[in-house]
Amino acid sequence: MRLGLLGGTFDPIHFGHLAVAEAVRYEMGLDKVYFIPSGQPPHKKRKVAPAEHRLAMVRLAVASNPYFEVSTVEIERPGPSYTVDTVKEFRRLFPQAEIFFILGMDALAEFLTWHRVEELLTLCHFVVATRPGYPSAVKGGRGRRVTVLPVPGVAVSSTEIRERVRAGKPIKYLLPEAVEEYIYAHGLYQ
Ligand code: ATP
Repeated sequence: MRLGLLGGTFDPIHFGHLAVAEAVRYEMGLDKVYFIPSGQPPHKKRKVAPAEHRLAMVRLAVASNPYFEVSTVEIERPGPSYTVDTVKEFRRLFPQAEIFFILGMDALAEFLTWHRVEELLTLCHFVVATRPGYPSAVKGGRGRRVTVLPVPGVAVSSTEIRERVRAGKPIKYLLPEAVEEYIYAHGLYQ
């Protein structure tokens, strides 16, 4: 079994995340992609929306794709969400699986600062998806376990969506309709 893991703040989830997950799933022949909303993200300084809302939006967004699953391991774990702990947890839950951690080009720039990165590199494969606005800075990747994968570009970010909601601008066609409705129904990002 080949499992993809896509960690993120998902504040909120948008079509960039979904397009990356689907393209990587197909290209890498993955059986499932797990979306893993973070609990306390160690890299984000601003206040993020409560985990229950971010989780609910991820659930709505992935519902129509049979290959997509949601994992609450990071939300349920107390303290900061470190990827190294998450990958270890998945290895424990799925000892036979090959694990592919998916990240965007921008996240790769911070990758070397991640907690226990040396250990992390030994635990799974990494698939780095191209992201509009971020140059593909990797030459050949860092060893055999890192794959850089060009994916159809969806130039949207959670930051942009939060800013647009605050400014009263439309967010339609940037994320799934059910997520858009959820944001308005709960008064998020006002
Ligand atoms: P923010 O704007 O709040 O920083 P974000 O849109 O970057 O959020 P995250 O939840 O931080 O979203 O991202 C989770 C993962 O998805 C990261 O690895 C990130 O690089 C990747 N990602 C997010 N949006 C895109 C996109 N449009 N194209 C490619 N990768 C993306």
